[in-house]
Amino acid sequence: MAEVLVLVDHASGKIRKATAELLTLARRLGEPSAVYVGPNAETAQVTLAKYGAHKVYVYDAADALEYLVAPQVEILTAVVEKTSPLAVLIPSNAAGKEIAARLAIRTESGVITDAVDVKPGGEGVETTQSVFAGSYSVTSTVTKGTAIVAVKPNSVAIEPAPAAGEVEKVDVTLSDAAKAVRIVESKPKAATGRPELTEAAIVVSGGRGTGGDFGPVEQFADSLGAAVGASRAAVDAGWYPHSNQVGQTGKQVSPQLYVAAGISGAIQHRAGMQTSKTIVAVNKDEEAPIFELVDFGVVGDLFTVLPQATEAVKKAKG
Ligand code: FAD
Repeated sequence: MAEVLVLVDHASGKIRKATAELLTLARRLGEPSAVYVGPNAETAQVTLAKYGAHKVYVYDAADALEYLVAPQVEILTAVVEKTSPLAVLIPSNAAGKEIAARLAIRTESGVITDAVDVKPGGEGVETTQSVFAGSYSVTSTVTKGTAIVAVKPNSVAIEPAPAAGEVEKVDVTLSDAAKAVRIVESKPKAATGRPELTEAAIVVSGGRGTGGDFGPVEQFADSLGAAVGASRAAVDAGWYPHSNQVGQTGKQVSPQLYVAAGISGAIQHRAGMQTSKTIVAVNKDEEAPIFELVDFGVVGDLFTVLPQATEAVKKAKG
């Protein structure tokens, strides 16, 4: 069976949800192997095996993560040259897309970014992309070399499938060019205790309708253990950080439940949330476009509705 590599997205050995999604997708194409770059590989190994990694290629050194993406590209290139895999799956975030592009040039392969699905095709690996704010789906087949595919988070439901997780060390001497730009400082965001926006099962977002008071949005989110999102209008007004923006120029989320409060439902906002499994909107304008795509809509003032909903959730939880 053809080997399919998955670049592991992790924080000090703790694998992120995107990696489990990519391993689930990789199984549809062939035999998944994980490529782990950085220290604490032993922390990740068990989880990678649980989600189907037959093999884990490990470059176990901190230095690869002290620079921008070039070292990861050199390590992946070495593994691709050694194994000639059918495909390499990479998370489609800013760093992942850069890695995918550089890797495709190095290995003279076809590259697709922002894929939402990957499957075997007649002539090669078939991918689906969602474009123009989700208005069109584009299906493409990578026919040249290894298919390098960057896949959007939340595109697939994770299915565990235990495998061997056998470890193989990757022996690469990083070039001076790969170490040209060193990261001198990185500041973690202030901890909110809330889940990461793109990984959360529930997202509660606020828009211009909050008038800058995100209190009811945050309290409702906390009652549900949800992440907080924001429309661009709220972010541009300086009410919420850009890292929480949902939409075309923000993050794309696909949670089990998405609650939009005081958000009109502009196409650029929909682009970031319309694949959510259940969508609920609270808006005082019954003509607001958001109501065209909701599963449940509440016509009302968010300052009345959200506190009541928060109380109801708390009561239900006991
Ligand atoms: P509005 O459109 O002003 O809607 C506010 C809503 O709140 C209204 O429907 C109103 O009825 C309701 N409301 C007011 N008060 C209350 C209340 N007390 N209770 C309940 N409801 C109330 N937007 C994004 O969100 N994400 C993006 O990534 C993004 N990218 C963009 C990229 C480009 C290139 C462009 C041109 C635009 C982009 N936008 C994006 C902006 C987008 O077009 C909209 O302007 C924006 O989404 C509107 O935000 P909003 O719904 O919060 O505000």
